[in-house]
Amino acid sequence: MFPIIDGHVDLVHFMRQKAPGLNFSDLDSGTLSPEGFSQGKLSVFSSALFCPDPFNGPGTSGQMLQDLIRYSLENISGLQHLKDANDLKQFCIKEPEKTGYILLLENADVLADWAVRDLKDYGIFIIGLTHIGKNRLAEGNGVNFPSGLTEKGYRVVRVLDEEQMILDLAHLSEPGFWQVVDLYSGPLMTSHTGFRNFFDVPRNLSEKQLSEIVARDGLIGLTINPEMFGQPQIEITDVYHHIDWFVQRFGSRNLGIGTDFGGFEITGQQCSDYTCFQDLAEYLDKDGYAKNDIQSILADNWYRFLVRNLPGG
Ligand SMILES: [Zn+2]
Repeated sequence: MFPIIDGHVDLVHFMRQKAPGLNFSDLDSGTLSPEGFSQGKLSVFSSALFCPDPFNGPGTSGQMLQDLIRYSLENISGLQHLKDANDLKQFCIKEPEKTGYILLLENADVLADWAVRDLKDYGIFIIGLTHIGKNRLAEGNGVNFPSGLTEKGYRVVRVLDEEQMILDLAHLSEPGFWQVVDLYSGPLMTSHTGFRNFFDVPRNLSEKQLSEIVARDGLIGLTINPEMFGQPQIEITDVYHHIDWFVQRFGSRNLGIGTDFGGFEITGQQCSDYTCFQDLAEYLDKDGYAKNDIQSILADNWYRFLVRNLPGG
């Protein structure tokens, strides 16, 4: 079996909604459960601290983030929080059967109030500037006629650069995307996205945007959230076609998986848990993909990117 690294999982959001008061180790079945992770050989994932847009604003976004951090510390047990490159390396060598996670902030409105160092103290090193709406830094993919970063957003991106944080471009509107690309010299990734060549909506990335992230040796996490495929359900062949399209244009080095599990309702689709990636691997193998390339897409590309760009890397 191929180990999997997933660039985006909404585990905290999922547990707060579906299993309030429970501990992760109490979840006895399902995609997001100890059993689901071990059956699908999930090695590492980015655990999203997702701050919904209604909480944007002075005080409220900070409170929301503190609630999410507290919830994560108290309720996600049995999984190791990996805080730097060395943690990640050691974990993957010593605990090949277990699952660890790194933290990712989805919607960084709080950085209009907090210092970037405050996030580092919590072990958060990956920052997505927005969710769907507008916040005090920039506009998300759901804003009509977006214009880009706010003045505060410009200042925050400069500090993120100085502090060598990883920037997650998922959800950022296109003008903001290009401003960040110009302004920011650090590592770029998109934790969960679809491709506009298949489904042309602002939430997805165009070929030009993908090419920019590849040129910067960043990482692109392909989602299996059907909303970003423009389909009610996703089959393994759909995921295959996205991967193959990408690899034909850009090679396999900068592509990974960013499921968005926990961030959407799974309604009986074929790709509904981590075991579907083993089926996908078989499909790629039959189609002539080298084992190395399959392993790169399923885990090794994220591993390399994170080891290089997390603190101590
Ligand atoms: Zn998202």
